[in-house]
Amino acid sequence: MNEERGEKIQMKQGRVEVPDNPVIPFIEGDGTGPDIWRATRRVLDAAVQTAYAGKRRIAWHEVLAGEKAKQQTGEWLPSTTVDEIAAHRVAIKGPLTTPIGGGIRSLNVTLRQVLDLYACVRPCRYITGVPSPVKEPEKLNVVIFRENTEDVYAGIEWPAGSAEATELTDFINSRFSKNIRSDSGIGIKPISAFGSKRLVRMALQHAVAHGRKRVTLVHKGNIMKYTEGAFRDWGYEVARTEFANLCIEEKELWENYGGKIPDGRILVNDRIADAMFQQVLLRPDEYEVLATPNLNGDYLSDACAAQVGGLGMAPGANIGDEVAFFEATHGTAPKYAGQDKVNPGSLILSGVMMLEYMGWKEAGELVYSGLAKSIKRRRVTYDLERQMEGAVTLKTSEFASAVIENMSQA
Ligand code: NAP
Repeated sequence: MNEERGEKIQMKQGRVEVPDNPVIPFIEGDGTGPDIWRATRRVLDAAVQTAYAGKRRIAWHEVLAGEKAKQQTGEWLPSTTVDEIAAHRVAIKGPLTTPIGGGIRSLNVTLRQVLDLYACVRPCRYITGVPSPVKEPEKLNVVIFRENTEDVYAGIEWPAGSAEATELTDFINSRFSKNIRSDSGIGIKPISAFGSKRLVRMALQHAVAHGRKRVTLVHKGNIMKYTEGAFRDWGYEVARTEFANLCIEEKELWENYGGKIPDGRILVNDRIADAMFQQVLLRPDEYEVLATPNLNGDYLSDACAAQVGGLGMAPGANIGDEVAFFEATHGTAPKYAGQDKVNPGSLILSGVMMLEYMGWKEAGELVYSGLAKSIKRRRVTYDLERQMEGAVTLKTSEFASAVIENMSQA
């Protein structure tokens, strides 16, 4: 496909500046990636066209990663791809195969690390009609900010019996009088003030920008005091020092305001991770923005996504101070590749997040309403159809057409 000419998105003093014809790099992805990317691109283009009557237009720019990159360049993740994404500030991708063997790391993890995309952002909001395992799925409407670079995901680990594990075990046992078994694998869980504070800061900024009234720090600090507990303490420190006029805490809420959050203020509270899993099921409407270290956030994101209809519909983004990268949250579903069959909802909704991030809210709202209307009319892909009564099965491309059709009537 011919690429259009456009201008680069800029980042000025921490704010994104978007021209009317931004160049946006995309990775179509492996397996079913090309199917869902084609559908998503049509939907996003149609929304921008409808919302701005031709005044704005995205100049899509393909960059390679995954199997396509390996075939064309011999590399899974060419450095030009990373450079292009960094230079253009905003990008979107379909799912990528994780190469097995040969010491190759997950491409997704590599992209997050080299671009310092320190927050994994996952909104979980119910769309009426989507099959859900809970009775009142509409009560959950949260955005999860999961720290993306630290914790047990830092990749600092050694197998049981390795020289490194043995040396560390001996050192810790003798130097600190501990009793680690000699046949233990060792993993290190670093959580820093820097990493925790910037993540919580982004969550608070999101709450301010989107008029959300609650930010909850989710941690396991009762057990892991100096990592998870410190995450909580540093989170409160950011709220108290950098958002002092905006934030109130639970004690103050009850002592001074009878439990009702005053206008213009944000309640910052914290919950222990295991309790949080109960809370999202039992009292989902008491939560809005969740900020969490890496491992808790990984589990919680999928649990919340399941509650509102599953990963096939869950959008996501990996965001840093310099670059924002939007992506489908499911994998490549290779057995359906090229069949025009799977649900493009996750990538389309990630596109909505992208449009919102760019400040193109009108286009984002059009996509969202077009998609919501298609589901309400029970015109859906196979995965939803099999769980809905009286629904019509659409192909990936037909679902995109239905979204576009419903969008223009919105
Ligand atoms: P998967 O690709 O997510 O697929 C598992 C199952 O989920 C599919 O068989 C299908 O279920 C359902 N599914 C996934 N996407 C769907 C969609 N768009 N519409 C409808 N149903 C969908 O997980 P996987 O098989 O474990 O992983 C395959 C490859 O993807 C691996 O190489 C893995 O590393 C990679 N992966 C990449 C990412 C990423 O790029 N972010 C994330 C996860 C996994 P049914 O068979 O029941 O229809």
